[in-house]
Amino acid sequence: LREEEAISPDELSAAQRRELLAKASNHTFQTEVNRMMKLIINSLYRNKEIFLRELISNASDALDKIRLMSLTDPGVLAASSELGIRIKADAARRLLSISDSGLGMTRHDLVNNLGTIANGGQEMNDMIGQFGVGFYSAFLVADKVTVVSKHNDDDQHVWESDASSFSVAPDPRGNTLARGTHITLHLKEEAADYLQPDTIRALVKKYSQFINFPIYLWAART
Ligand code: ADP
Ligand code: MG
Repeated sequence: LREEEAISPDELSAAQRRELLAKASNHTFQTEVNRMMKLIINSLYRNKEIFLRELISNASDALDKIRLMSLTDPGVLAASSELGIRIKADAARRLLSISDSGLGMTRHDLVNNLGTIANGGQEMNDMIGQFGVGFYSAFLVADKVTVVSKHNDDDQHVWESDASSFSVAPDPRGNTLARGTHITLHLKEEAADYLQPDTIRALVKKYSQFINFPIYLWAART
């Protein structure tokens, strides 16, 4: 775990926020996703910290995917050859972000991968046992989640959700990430402890010590 500032998209200006809203498409979560989120909230309220393991594991998966693709097509790393995971805590604004320079998601991926569950037919409990609770565990600690993603095959898009529905829009700031995914958790008041560098460090050691990519931690001073 090293200390280095994350490359994060600038905050949206008021005009950019208006443009984002104007161009956003609004979506409802698939029924299975709503069930999954309820199950996660009801069964893991005493074990909220696992959200970090899930988000780091997704970042690692996305990095594995682009690295695998690069073996046959080195050109996929043209935008950035650096493969890593960055965690940033902004205590003043109660924001925690996890970003990676992995595969990224196209608009289509954002709608489908973060709005539906692939194994829809499978029994929910079996699924959680087999694959882990996944991305939606972010809502254990956050009341709003913003995902900015840049995939080689598409322009940068912004996905945003308060857990009841989600929106997707082209990023008014343009393609500010070379490639990859930047997830911002707008932490609930009671989850503010996850902004402490010591807490984050301990969780990364506990759950993510075997991740094969460097993990950087940056904590903005308050
Ligand atoms: P799982 O990891 O078991 O597939 P998740 O709920 O954790 O389930 O994630 C759902 C999907 O969202 C992933 O399969 C992946 O396609 C996409 N995804 C999530 N996080 C990222 C990320 N950081 N980069 C790229 N894709 C991601
Ligand atoms: Mg996962």
